[in-house]
Amino acid sequence: MNLLLIRLIIFVILFLAGFKLYRLYREWRLEQERRDDLPGERQMVRCAWCQVHVPEDEALRDKRTEAWFCCSAHRDRFLQEHDPEA
Ligand SMILES: [Zn+2]
Repeated sequence: MNLLLIRLIIFVILFLAGFKLYRLYREWRLEQERRDDLPGERQMVRCAWCQVHVPEDEALRDKRTEAWFCCSAHRDRFLQEHDPEA
């Protein structure tokens, strides 16, 4: 009987700890999203291959052509078409 009570207490503590962690995580996520939504905070650039706009700090830049890309695959395809020697 005593053992059962201890198990119950441990279970409740674990549950409360998990719930608290979950709430902290949710607050952290909301904070991140709010930061991402701030207008004018991040410079947007356009992918030279697919024309999609991406934040400058997430985009890739080719030093030689000075063109921006959303991902390395688009950079490679763009360079293949515009710069066959590379
Ligand atoms: Zn792209």
